[in-house]
Amino acid sequence: MTAPLHGKTALVTGSTSGIGLGIATALAEQGASVILNGFGDVDAARTIVGRAGGRVGYHGADLGRADHIAALMSYAAAEFDGVDVLVNNAGIQHVASIETFPVDKWDAILAVNLTAAFHTTRLALPAMRARNWGRIINIASVHGLVASIHKAAYVAAKHGLLGLTKVTALETARTGITCNALCPGWVLTPLVQRQIDDRAAREGVGDDVAREALLVEKQPSADFVTLEQLAATATFLCSDAANQVRGAAWNVDGGWIAQ
Ligand code: NAD
Repeated sequence: MTAPLHGKTALVTGSTSGIGLGIATALAEQGASVILNGFGDVDAARTIVGRAGGRVGYHGADLGRADHIAALMSYAAAEFDGVDVLVNNAGIQHVASIETFPVDKWDAILAVNLTAAFHTTRLALPAMRARNWGRIINIASVHGLVASIHKAAYVAAKHGLLGLTKVTALETARTGITCNALCPGWVLTPLVQRQIDDRAAREGVGDDVAREALLVEKQPSADFVTLEQLAATATFLCSDAANQVRGAAWNVDGGWIAQ
């Protein structure tokens, strides 16, 4: 049987670690060629995704810069004949109260977590429209749906990303292109480990205690969401069964926003 995404190319931004790497691997297992991006261990990511099958490319664009994103999309067009599955995943975090929030951090978080998805989407859509098929998956967060203190830029960017998801879904509603968002709760990735480390230092406790405290404060299941669970949800969104799933904000969050 032919793999479901055979002949398609997936671009996953921020895919050298964490959720992006998990989704890139799952899409490769589904038969897609995959373009990796991000600042982490590129060779390790290439090896992991390469083992899953298919062709693997990499572009080191800084998603905080529009000119870099244009170069990334040109690379995808020249080397892979465009992008069929676009996963806007790259994201950064900074934790501080509004009064003390560094302005440069605000600008960087809005650029990487929100504006980058506008640029990749606007540049990917023409080729998707020409083929009348495409999948755009925006990795938002429960923080696209609810807020937490000290995360003003992140919460604002993720709420904005859900808005962009809905507009993209409406503008493509009569086509074979769908656009949806995933809203994970806590997933144990480097981005979250840094918050656990900060908490352990602040409260003078060990890693285990800080990790447990972070989880139970927000996530009723008291369990982390896994990369495999998110990757399977993204894979479903790429399937024909999801043709009429459009503009959704799908929380995978251990019950976080049910409270
Ligand atoms: P991570 O830190 O493991 O991965 C982030 C990736 O983005 C890395 O590959 C990094 O190199 C890349 N990146 C960072 N800045 C970049 C830039 N300027 N240009 C290009 N690449 C850049 O984090 P993660 O937890 O896997 O997060 C991935 C996405 O999932 C983010 O959008 C994050 O907001 C979202 N998310 C994470 C969680 C969680 O609990 N981990 C929860 C909800 C949402």
